[in-house]
Amino acid sequence: MKKVGTKNSILLLLLLALFDVLAIHRILELGVYFEYQSKTISDSFFRKTFYSESMRENVGYWSKECITFLKNVENEAVYFPIPTSSVDKSLRVAYTDSWMDERNFQGERGHEGTDIMAIENQRGLYPVVSVSDGRITNLGWLDKGGYRVGVTSDSGTYYYYAHLESYSGIAEGDEIMAGQLLGYMGDSGYGPEGTVGHFDVHLHFGIYCYQDGKEVSVNPYFLLKALEKHKLKYSYS
Ligand SMILES: [Zn+2]
Repeated sequence: MKKVGTKNSILLLLLLALFDVLAIHRILELGVYFEYQSKTISDSFFRKTFYSESMRENVGYWSKECITFLKNVENEAVYFPIPTSSVDKSLRVAYTDSWMDERNFQGERGHEGTDIMAIENQRGLYPVVSVSDGRITNLGWLDKGGYRVGVTSDSGTYYYYAHLESYSGIAEGDEIMAGQLLGYMGDSGYGPEGTVGHFDVHLHFGIYCYQDGKEVSVNPYFLLKALEKHKLKYSYS
């Protein structure tokens, strides 16, 4: 009888230990849940890891505001901004996660986007298409961004394309569709209108949301990674 009692006690202890582990895990999980529930789009961790695989897997942890923004972008972002060449496969692009890296032109600041570099460093060669439907709300020269296009989607998200070599005949106020040609990749910017050659040919792509009337930059890197599955094909060489 005594032996059975000891066995039962051990079993009971093991069960209690298991419940403890489960309870601690649950408490930790709830802690994360409540922490994420209170976050806004302005939260730096949300912006840095935006659209990463882990964020998409655990999207339910985030606040309603964050989830709505993510879902809006998910629905409206359709195409990778640089189509592949149907005639020359060597015309590839490359990019890394450089969001908030240090930049020095016109004062120190964080890099608000992803630089999609042209493997063939030639301005005017690679086409740039709109990632989403929307309206062209900004067009023209910026000392930092060179020839840039700003597209505002229906949800109010702002997609920013900078350092273009030329435009495709688009104008401010135009309604455009996802995949529509905006212009050609270049190296314009970092000076007065027409300045080129201060860096290699690339597309600077940025995403902004608006909070309390302020522009808030969100890291486009993980979205771009996801959009690689949706590249258009254009004939260029
Ligand atoms: Zn850039």
